[in-house]
Amino acid sequence: MARGAQKEQARQKAQKEAAKRKGGVSQLGARQAGLQIKCATCMSQMANYKLLVQHMEAKHPKDKIPTEESFSA
Ligand SMILES: [Zn+2]
Repeated sequence: MARGAQKEQARQKAQKEAAKRKGGVSQLGARQAGLQIKCATCMSQMANYKLLVQHMEAKHPKDKIPTEESFSA
């Protein structure tokens, strides 16, 4: 019985570590993608897409806000 419980613990631990690795990779990817966001109107660089939207609304309210997807390519 003890051996079976150990096996189950090891399986849960491996699942947890796999999920941790997965999350770490996607966070790194988002950080890298965030470096390429620039305002097309005044060429200011933004740290992330949310800041660009705020910037467009504040500085260029008449301009069309580009989609978040247009920066990830
Ligand atoms: Zn701008």
